[in-house]
Amino acid sequence: MRPSALSGARWAQPAVRRSLTLGEITATYLPDGYVELHPARWFSLDETTDLYDDRPELVAASGYLVASIGVLLLEGPGWRILVDAGLGPTSVPADATHPALGVMRGGGLASFAQVIGEVDAVVLTHAHDDHVGWARRGWPGLPGVARAPHLVGRDEPAPRGWEHVDDGQQIVPGVTAIATPGHTAGHLSLVVAGEDRRLVVLGDTFHSSLQVEVPRLSSCFDVDPARSRDSRARMLRELDTPGTVAVATHFADVPFGRVRAGRWEPVA
Ligand SMILES: [Zn+2]
Repeated sequence: MRPSALSGARWAQPAVRRSLTLGEITATYLPDGYVELHPARWFSLDETTDLYDDRPELVAASGYLVASIGVLLLEGPGWRILVDAGLGPTSVPADATHPALGVMRGGGLASFAQVIGEVDAVVLTHAHDDHVGWARRGWPGLPGVARAPHLVGRDEPAPRGWEHVDDGQQIVPGVTAIATPGHTAGHLSLVVAGEDRRLVVLGDTFHSSLQVEVPRLSSCFDVDPARSRDSRARMLRELDTPGTVAVATHFADVPFGRVRAGRWEPVA
């Protein structure tokens, strides 16, 4: 899709279901809900004017950035993997969340139970509430996911029974885990290699497309901001490789994209 053909509203509204095909592999973003991010507090900025002057479309009428919450279903020849586990069937009002957040809402995944069906593994990018919600609750209504092995990065705290994976470890042929610490100690990204295209699963190395333009911006939830900057730099190098697209969990309704001229360009 040409950027000029993109509805401006998609930069500031929660994601809908979107798919991308890379040869034999299909990646489908399934939304669970959204969380509002305070444009200044989320990045620990004193003021927002300069940063958002060029990007007014990122700020919703509510005054917040809209961060989608969702999962990624990866389907290849003979295998199906789910990445992340959403927030789960719950909502938190703005006055009960962190000061850098507004409303947080989940539960949308319930309507995709048939689409998700059985999976061979669940890869959790990290153990924050908006990525492990359904897993912590035992996947109600999703028994074909509950019994699959749950994989998490080597240095990430995990409940008993979850398995740890290492940097560079192959999950299935064509899907490789990459350690991208900084947001959390054991944060994981993935590289999915299709026939002539690659998909990089960014996880929470980035929370807003604004960070593609200004990668020094770290979120106030990053446990190690310097390492999270290093991980963003590593992901941007991956995205420099020709034929590479990415998926970002929290990028409003533009989760699939690539970097063109230093900016996020939606592709699905
Ligand atoms: Zn997150």
